[in-house]
Amino acid sequence: VNTERIPFTGSLGRILSEDLAAPYDLPIFTNSSMDGYAVLSADCRSAVPENPVVLKVIGDIPAGSRGDTRLEPGQALRIMTGAPLPPGADAVVPIEDILASDHPVGKLPSHVKISQPVKPGQYVRPAGQDIQTGRVFLQKCHRITASDIGVLAMFGLVDIPVFRVPRIAVISSGDELIDPSQPLAPGKIRDANTFMMSALVTEHGGQAVYTRIARDDYASVQDILDEAAAYNPDIILSTAGVSVGAFDYIRTVVEDHGHLDFWRVNMRPGKPVASGHYRNIPFLGLPGNPVSAFVGFLVFVRPVIRRLSGLEAEMDRDIILVRLADPIESDGRESYLRAIVEQQAGEWVGRLAGHQGSGNLLSIVNANALLIVPSGVKSLPAGSTLNAWIFRMIR
Ligand code: AMP
Ligand code: MG
Repeated sequence: VNTERIPFTGSLGRILSEDLAAPYDLPIFTNSSMDGYAVLSADCRSAVPENPVVLKVIGDIPAGSRGDTRLEPGQALRIMTGAPLPPGADAVVPIEDILASDHPVGKLPSHVKISQPVKPGQYVRPAGQDIQTGRVFLQKCHRITASDIGVLAMFGLVDIPVFRVPRIAVISSGDELIDPSQPLAPGKIRDANTFMMSALVTEHGGQAVYTRIARDDYASVQDILDEAAAYNPDIILSTAGVSVGAFDYIRTVVEDHGHLDFWRVNMRPGKPVASGHYRNIPFLGLPGNPVSAFVGFLVFVRPVIRRLSGLEAEMDRDIILVRLADPIESDGRESYLRAIVEQQAGEWVGRLAGHQGSGNLLSIVNANALLIVPSGVKSLPAGSTLNAWIFRMIR
């Protein structure tokens, strides 16, 4: 099963796996919405400044008290915001509506003068005004927010059913890769993908349970894939080594111990994308170029993580029509161009975010959207319109 029960305190961002129904009314008891006096409205119907109604004050109902003193005609009880409305009372007269001289601070007055007509139910919050017992207040597949945690607390729902966090093994590959904390050497580069992919996994509600770099030889690739498989992740995700390079072993090793469904996609960036199973564990191989890996993650991995998390695969992919500030070119493959989309004079306008080379990570860093050029389109002039996938908030 891909669900579990967890403490509500740690549930922010998790996805509910069941509908949640109110175990009781909220507010749980009828209470006052103001500091003032609980009264019987019938007593005060005719109250006017020239002819006030005088009520005998028989006690206090502070917040947290039981509030079970019955109110009889001619009486009032001093009441605080949130305190239970006493039996018999049907309205509250706020302090603000009573002459200052008639309610000395701190001291309970013997009488109170009501000089405005009182409507039944005024300043009273009836039980169930917010939500009634049995009503579904959060639906299955909903992502828990801060306000939801407030409601869960009010209902005492201290452990809640959620979908399990998808577990992803993140593998990088290449003899050129060096850990970011280590010194560089000629011909080497620092490994970006391991960390970027892990962060993307986290950002999309998953957990990177294993991260390693494989060397460009058959044995190392198999070792690392076997180690990853031992964690029994939901997906093994790799970058690099899936193309046609002389030292690209990932495909071969996956095929020798599982199978590949495909290993090329007619898109740009990110043509060498592989999908299959390694020892019965779903495997996705993305290209090594960091931009291709990033785009490949959004296009291929994000929907899988969402499905595993209990969400619709494509729900909340924000696509809007934008006007192009720059002319664009493509080679006819479906292309995902890194762009900055902003509102200008009431219209969404997209411009390219830096050099579109698939190794140029700053084009992603500066972008907030991917312009989706459909396959078959080779160029578009400035001023034409195109779909943009907004993948993060516009700064
Ligand atoms: P490959 O798919 O192995 O041919 O790699 C394509 C390009 O991506 C090469 O320029 C690699 O150096 C680069 N690359 C591969 N893996 C990483 C990584 N983890 N971090 C940064 N660049 C990488
Ligand atoms: Mg390589």
